[in-house]
This record gives sequence, structure tokens and C-alpha cells, in this order.
Amino acid sequence: MAAVKEVQPAKCLMGRLKHGADLVEELTSVCVDNHVTLGWVHAIGAVQKARLAYYDQETHEYRFLELDRHLELTSLVGNVSLKDGVPMLHPHATLADEHGNAYGGHLAPGTIVFACEFLVQALDGPEFARGFDTETELPLWTT
Ligand code: ZN
Repeated sequence: MAAVKEVQPAKCLMGRLKHGADLVEELTSVCVDNHVTLGWVHAIGAVQKARLAYYDQETHEYRFLELDRHLELTSLVGNVSLKDGVPMLHPHATLADEHGNAYGGHLAPGTIVFACEFLVQALDGPEFARGFDTETELPLWTT
């Protein structure tokens, strides 16, 4: 059975990230600096290079894909919740090259902003804390 909790919309934060910033780190800082402990994130823009992660469900380890090229950030979707008491951003992204070919995955630190416009939708509700999940060996939401 799915684990579901009711949440309510709170404040929205809309802005753009700094050129040359590490996308995941700066977007995480936006959440931390604005006391967002629960929320949903959207962003579009372009990156100078990207680092994507793929979780291998057999070995339970992340494999990283380094894309040292200019790409459009066609869609970033993620969430914010608490891990070890601090806000953690969990972003997934789809990126496109000059031919429209897409790459996708879990967006990792090491992705550098060319331009990025974002919306953080903060939510009010019960705490969503991440803890170790024995089935997946991932830090998933505990119920
Ligand atoms: Zn992920």
C-alpha cells in the first residue's frame, strides 16, 4: 500500500540561479536559506556540463554519466525533504543536445549552470524524513 500524507501549499519561491554555479548545490542553498524543509521543485534553462546518476537496481550502487558539453535543461523536477535534519534536494532532469537528443536521470552535483530559472513550491504538512530503506538501500521517506 502506498504511503500517503496530506500536505498544503505554502509559499512559492521563484528565481534564477547564478551563471557558473553548481546547480544542485545552489538550488539546495535556496531551500536551506529560505527554510524550505518540504516542497516540490521545477526548473528549466541550460547547463555548461552535466553529471547524471543512474541507480543500478541489482548492485544497489549509483553509476555516473558525465556529460562535458552544453545542454538544454528541458525539465528538472524534484522534491525537498529532510535527511539527517537538514533539507535535501532530490532532483531528476532531462537534458537535450543540439540535435534534440535527450539524456535523463538523477541530477548530481557537478552540473554547472549556464542559465536556470526555478520555482520552489514550499509545502506545509507532516514531516517527510529520509531514512535507510532495506529493500532498495536508498534513503527513502519513512512512514
Ligand atoms: Zn533520484
